[in-house]
Amino acid sequence: MTGAIPRADLLAQHEAIAAEVRAAVERVMASGRYVLGPEVEAFESEFAAYCGAAHCVGTNSGTDALRFAVSACGLDTGDEVVTVALTAPATAFAIELAGAAPRFADVDPERCTLDPGAAAAAIGASTRALLPVHLYGQCADMGLLRRIAEERGLWLIEDAAQAHGAAYGGRRVGTLGHVACFSFYPTKNLGAYGDGGAVVTDDPELARRVRLLRDYGRTAETRHETVAGNSRLDELQAAILRVKLRRLDQWNERRRRHAERYRELMADLPLELPAPEDREQHVFHLYVVRTPRRDALRAHLAENGVATGVHFPVPVHRQPAYGGRDTPELPVTDACADEVLSLPMYPELGDADLERVADLAREFFADAHGASARARRYSS
Ligand SMILES: *Cc1c(COP(=O)(O)O)cnc(C)c1O
Repeated sequence: MTGAIPRADLLAQHEAIAAEVRAAVERVMASGRYVLGPEVEAFESEFAAYCGAAHCVGTNSGTDALRFAVSACGLDTGDEVVTVALTAPATAFAIELAGAAPRFADVDPERCTLDPGAAAAAIGASTRALLPVHLYGQCADMGLLRRIAEERGLWLIEDAAQAHGAAYGGRRVGTLGHVACFSFYPTKNLGAYGDGGAVVTDDPELARRVRLLRDYGRTAETRHETVAGNSRLDELQAAILRVKLRRLDQWNERRRRHAERYRELMADLPLELPAPEDREQHVFHLYVVRTPRRDALRAHLAENGVATGVHFPVPVHRQPAYGGRDTPELPVTDACADEVLSLPMYPELGDADLERVADLAREFFADAHGASARARRYSS
């Protein structure tokens, strides 16, 4: 067996950019400005431009970006947000932390993202927003979701924490709703060396409110307009993110090429592979395949040194945090949670790695086929 293949490899990425990162960090250390200084300002304008939006406001996490976006839209106690349960718990918890309540709707079986029909059906008298997640790096069905939001007079908030650089109809995520939220957690397609997040919007008033919420409600050095905490992106992370943003498109392109190669290698296996409707819509934060024999396949890969992940084995509505509360039936969400498997995916993967993963999957299904053929023979 050759070397182990991790699910993701942050060190490989660091090694490729170490000199530039070190220079950026040195520059910040020597500047004497460590919070909300020129690096954050520059990153905010560069990331807004990258998305094609007017404003970007850095925060200290994706969770806070979501929380602030919900609050900035004016939602509060008693208001509901229609969202998915097949996501990081942070999506739903951020809605709660803002004082509102999530109302879970099912996902569609192809994309595993918010099903527009289910979303429309979940809208009630207290619903004020739709909050789709661009899960695994793939855009939610934004054309239909936008139409529903417009017709029903709802805010449309994107959880783009897994989809930096993905686009829909020629427009990048961050510009597909009223406001979008990003995470720069280290493993994301654009990751910091620690925590970070951002809110992106074309709406100057939403951007202004988020700026208040991340920094003690401050409008001037000693003037505080609203009660708020402290959730700022720091200068070190912003300087590093600027280095990495310059490579994001190139890294996303490599992820797409790996996905195409996986598809070539595994198209004939009894595995459901991701097939984006449109290449631009998917930046493959994760490469997620589906099979009812997920756990056995996962064990076979692990025995042979290939690490995989499950995103997410327990949907949010089934977490203990929601224990005992009335939750709707979400059959597609539950089926996805039972069957999804995240194969190794990161820009620095080599072709030999992809081939080894595919060979092991082939071996698994060949064995399984052989075993069931043998079983049939013995039982007849
Ligand atoms: C990572 C993630 C978040 C939370 O971001 P943090 O920066 O870790 O707070 C929210 N939603 C989704 C879909 C995520 O993947």
